[in-house]
Amino acid sequence: MLHPPHQSLQVAAVPSQRAPARDQAGPWHTEAVCRRDEAGLFFAPSKEPTAARLAREEAAKGVCARCPVMIECREHALLQPEPYGVWGGLTAAERRVVLARRRRREMELKAVSPGNRIAAAG
Ligand code: SF4
Repeated sequence: MLHPPHQSLQVAAVPSQRAPARDQAGPWHTEAVCRRDEAGLFFAPSKEPTAARLAREEAAKGVCARCPVMIECREHALLQPEPYGVWGGLTAAERRVVLARRRRREMELKAVSPGNRIAAAG
């Protein structure tokens, strides 16, 4: 799992989220707005109250909205997939929704592909 460009004190304490691998991330990582500031905004501290989480996530999304590599970051987080934190302007829950929609769409496309229609007819 790749660590996002932003550094979080909470994340630094969690071994599974440590060890940035910028060389694996590609060039987008060097352009990340969150490399320079907003530490602690992108990952939830333990036992974060809901209202605080929502406010923090909105603030993180605001940072992402002005990031020149938001699309690349989002795709990275979807493809890995990254299970925690705000990446590319999406929370983990929002990424799960996007992935579920993609899977459903892929299944629908497979169902109507010419190869499947021939198999179903035969
Ligand atoms: S989109 Fe957000 S999380 Fe991703 S690199 Fe940019 S600021 Fe960081």
